[in-house]
Amino acid sequence: MSTGKINVQTENIFPIIKKFLYSDHEIFLRELVSNAVDATQKLKTLVSLGESKATLEDLKVEVIIDKAAKTLTIRDKGIGMTAEEIEKYITQIAFSGAEEFVNKYKDKAAEANAIIGHFGLGFYSAFMVAKKVEIFSLSHKEGSAAVRWECDGSPEYKMEDTTKATRGTDIVLHIADDSEEFLADARINTLLTKYCKFLPVEIKFGTRKEGEKDKEVDVDNIINNPSPAWTKKPSDLKEEDYTNFYRELYPMNFEDPLFHIHLNVDYPFNLTGILFFPKLKKSFEVQKDKIQLYCNQVFVTDSVENIVPDFLGLLQGVIDSPDIPLNVSRSYLQADGHVKKISAHITKKLLIN
Ligand code: ADP
Repeated sequence: MSTGKINVQTENIFPIIKKFLYSDHEIFLRELVSNAVDATQKLKTLVSLGESKATLEDLKVEVIIDKAAKTLTIRDKGIGMTAEEIEKYITQIAFSGAEEFVNKYKDKAAEANAIIGHFGLGFYSAFMVAKKVEIFSLSHKEGSAAVRWECDGSPEYKMEDTTKATRGTDIVLHIADDSEEFLADARINTLLTKYCKFLPVEIKFGTRKEGEKDKEVDVDNIINNPSPAWTKKPSDLKEEDYTNFYRELYPMNFEDPLFHIHLNVDYPFNLTGILFFPKLKKSFEVQKDKIQLYCNQVFVTDSVENIVPDFLGLLQGVIDSPDIPLNVSRSYLQADGHVKKISAHITKKLLIN
């Protein structure tokens, strides 16, 4: 067993995280599930490059509630971490492993670019809702020992060898007394649907019944669609695929759109997306189905202003841009020139069409 001190500037970073870093505590789930997805994508990249001998069956990420133990676990079967890696990536906060990984592999594999490296203090957002966080991890590297790391929100942490049969990482959150809402199935289901609906790896949350009456079987409840329409080539999509995607995006809207535009930009910034023109309604109705902003298939917000110019305010759909700065509040996002650039680009594109 080893103990250590997390290398941070102030003694008490956690209260700061808790109060000020994110206005929405709920986004801890987006951060941790995104990390689990990243770890899975990294493993796939390493295997495709012949740098890991890991087997790739069943790579689902799982979210598990244990009401009796008051824990919420995010489980992946990705690359995992050795003790040294936990030390480096988790306890040296400022050091972003994703960044290092992308630098190392950016010339080799396209997938590396899909890794979400914009989350900054992502892992530590867990302390917004947890009084203690444990990590159980087994690295994909041959001969690795499984590790358990534990931290109760003070800069002190513990690390020791443990037993873990399967490769990958379990992040176990011991939910704080004031955050017990995150032990409710319905709440977690809503959050997964909001933030993780289009993440690129399957995410399982419990099971559901399928099949005819009396012949029902339990199947994994997968909450996301890993390859949404906007990530595909327009030439591979039919008109009905766009309509189906529209329904997937706005399940409560029963009117089909008039037409769509598929955006695909790689210069001067990366952006993909599909925008829809809805049918105009006779009665005045406040538009509720707004444009949703994503970063590498991770939902960021649907309340960003000026993402399209005012005269296009009725547009609906999805914009995905990996360049969006993310570990920031929504107001910062709006102030950032990025939104302006996106808006200018979309206007140009629409006028040319
Ligand atoms: P970021 O994702 O922006 O790098 P985080 O604080 O969320 O920042 O995570 C820090 C690092 O810890 C990650 O870059 C990664 O190397 C490592 N890490 C976090 N979660 C996992 C996980 N589930 N599996 C493997 N590594 C992880």
